[in-house]
Amino acid sequence: MLVKTEGFVLKNRKYGESDNMLVIFSRKLGKINAIAKGAQKPKSALMAGVQPFCYSEFLLYRGKSLYTVSQCEPKEIFYKLREDVKRLSYAAYLVELVEVVTNEGQTNNRLFNLLGKTLYLLTKPEIEVNTVVRSFEINFLNYCGLKPELHRCVHCNKITADYWKFSPQEGGLLCNHCSSVDPYAMKISETTLRLARYLQSKEIHEVRKLKISDTLNEALKKLLKQYILVHINKYDFKSLEVAEKL
Ligand SMILES: [Zn+2]
Repeated sequence: MLVKTEGFVLKNRKYGESDNMLVIFSRKLGKINAIAKGAQKPKSALMAGVQPFCYSEFLLYRGKSLYTVSQCEPKEIFYKLREDVKRLSYAAYLVELVEVVTNEGQTNNRLFNLLGKTLYLLTKPEIEVNTVVRSFEINFLNYCGLKPELHRCVHCNKITADYWKFSPQEGGLLCNHCSSVDPYAMKISETTLRLARYLQSKEIHEVRKLKISDTLNEALKKLLKQYILVHINKYDFKSLEVAEKL
């Protein structure tokens, strides 16, 4: 059976003499594994569209355990990303996040669109990387059903507090009365909370002009990183380590 679908190449590794084994996040089929036969050959028609991050239109043949790429036409190769190692490393981190949470056969249109918009914004040098990455992380959590509660105490439901703490384990804010519920709950300042709420309420293209100060970015980054690690059961992102060192 042949299936036509758009998709992002999340992973591409060499396979045998001249093939590529791909992980594709497709609009119609969710995440799939697919083999691109002969894609490493210099004259292969598949080569251009199967590179990492590529957004391509695929014609796929469904085999018993694997798809085979029959045709593929690149629609956006995000060439600009490849010119900037820092942006490229962040793109690799985002793609890694998507790969971890998506399942075969489970589509996620909102996440699919978010990934496309984010990769596009990352190619724009005038748009700040930090803004794009933080907005992606927050929207990503929303669309994966892992939205952190940022408006009320997850323990007692109160919407006001003398101060708030952020508990990745409990799924969001804890008020000052409940903060002892999680001894590892993290401090969160009013300004960090305001930024997090703002990003949570906006789509990524709406915040593209936002500039986040380094201090605020660091504070939010730390909270989100911990939250993501706790909720997606993955404890290291090599691409993120690389990006942060640059
Ligand atoms: Zn409370």
